[in-house]
Amino acid sequence: MIEQRLARLAELAQTARFDCIGIMPGPNMFYFTGLNFHLSERPTLALLPRRGRPALVLPAFEASKTQRSAMEWQTFTYVDGQPPAEAFLAASEALGLKGRSVGVEAYRLRLLELRLLAEAAPGARIDPADEIIAQLRVVKDANEIAAMKRAIAITQQALDDTLDVIRAGLTERQVANELLVALMRRGAEGLAFEPLIQSGPNAALPHLTSTERVIQAGDVLLLDFGVMVDGYLSDITRTFFVGHAPDELKQIYDAVQRANAAGRAAARPGATGQEVDRAARRVIEAAGYGQYFTHRTGHGLGLEGHEPPYMVEGNDVPLVPGNTFTVEPGIYVPGLGGVRIEDDMLITADGAESLTTYDRELTVIG
Ligand code: ZN
Ligand code: ZN
Repeated sequence: MIEQRLARLAELAQTARFDCIGIMPGPNMFYFTGLNFHLSERPTLALLPRRGRPALVLPAFEASKTQRSAMEWQTFTYVDGQPPAEAFLAASEALGLKGRSVGVEAYRLRLLELRLLAEAAPGARIDPADEIIAQLRVVKDANEIAAMKRAIAITQQALDDTLDVIRAGLTERQVANELLVALMRRGAEGLAFEPLIQSGPNAALPHLTSTERVIQAGDVLLLDFGVMVDGYLSDITRTFFVGHAPDELKQIYDAVQRANAAGRAAARPGATGQEVDRAARRVIEAAGYGQYFTHRTGHGLGLEGHEPPYMVEGNDVPLVPGNTFTVEPGIYVPGLGGVRIEDDMLITADGAESLTTYDRELTVIG
């Protein structure tokens, strides 16, 4: 699996005229090497040449990690208290990087590693390689999809567990803590992001984290959360009513539910992210709430919580089988509340499958 990914990376690097690709600790390191490193103040960089053995510059105390790797590494280490420049220089000389072209992650490489690399490889051209990396990662294989399904199963089970205990009188944070316990008990390895539990008018503020607000009858309660399993993430949003559902919020819920369905229905091979966005947005505009749908319809999902492909105006790249992304339209009316329904989609050979299957009908709880 990793061999195939490296072979494809080498092909794309050749087309993009890179002699070597530099990868930082994080999702791309895991994707291309299977190695997990915690990003710390100690510089760590994998150098994947188009041909020949890859090199890894890393702190000496972590060198044993490469023994569990399927790849044959050349390692270049430094000990604490010693500047890492010599290790970078030795790696650069071993790969012959002087004056060559090195592709790096613009979103992840730090000034720290950039300077060490530039000094170790005089005259090297260092340019972003994010596009070729994204081209590979945007198409998920069966193993990746299986990991996402495991993450989604835990997410949906934990939502069921948590709904049992939600009632007016609890704070958002108490609900968040109940949810966290349920997620961990169900087997989550970690969180995809800090869960958002938003009640009443707080639900009109996308990305506000849980507060001490006490949940009241007639509130909407929006839960947006996900977990990590084997490196892969889930991301789901459901919105409920506590006690009873006020009329205007019922109408809003209905519009969002139809927009979510329209977005999912527009997802298929050949459709673009822009078309998916427009399909969902059109429904909300027709319902008269266009100005309150203030974000794109969705984002890619996999090793990262936000990655290509984006369901957004201006994205005219056709979707292909293996793409995974969210469809998450919402309406946020300041002072009143907000509703969002978010699903995780997989493009298949002849359409799309919603990997999240949790009920989307208007539901009163508590
Ligand atoms: Zn979400
Ligand atoms: Zn999302």
